[in-house]
Amino acid sequence: MAFKLFIVDWLIEVLRSISIYFLNHKAYLEVDLYSEQNEEIDMRKIPTMMKKNIIYDKEVVQKRWDICSSCKYLTEGNRCSVCKCYMQTKTKMAFARCPLNPPKWNIYKPGVLNVKSAN
Ligand code: SF4
Repeated sequence: MAFKLFIVDWLIEVLRSISIYFLNHKAYLEVDLYSEQNEEIDMRKIPTMMKKNIIYDKEVVQKRWDICSSCKYLTEGNRCSVCKCYMQTKTKMAFARCPLNPPKWNIYKPGVLNVKSAN
């Protein structure tokens, strides 16, 4: 019985991890689609997954944008040529991070600036 319980717990954990992965992926797709269709973020119209992930700490968003805007991978349309995302939107998303290894800025954790200086 203990083994069955262990297996069920393990399966629940695996499914939870897969769900989180796809929810984040869905949010990424929503951000990209929204960015393609809108220049500015309008809180009344943004998709739910985006709304849940917006960072309201302007200091963090500004630091991220400062790093991106001086990065050699940022293209004229404000897209990152590495991840192909629109950076003016992506820098406002809590789950987002720079795709470089190591990243120039990372996933947002409230209370932590979580931004490294640009190289
Ligand atoms: S996300 Fe990273 S690689 Fe892309 S433009 Fe910003 S700093 Fe550069």
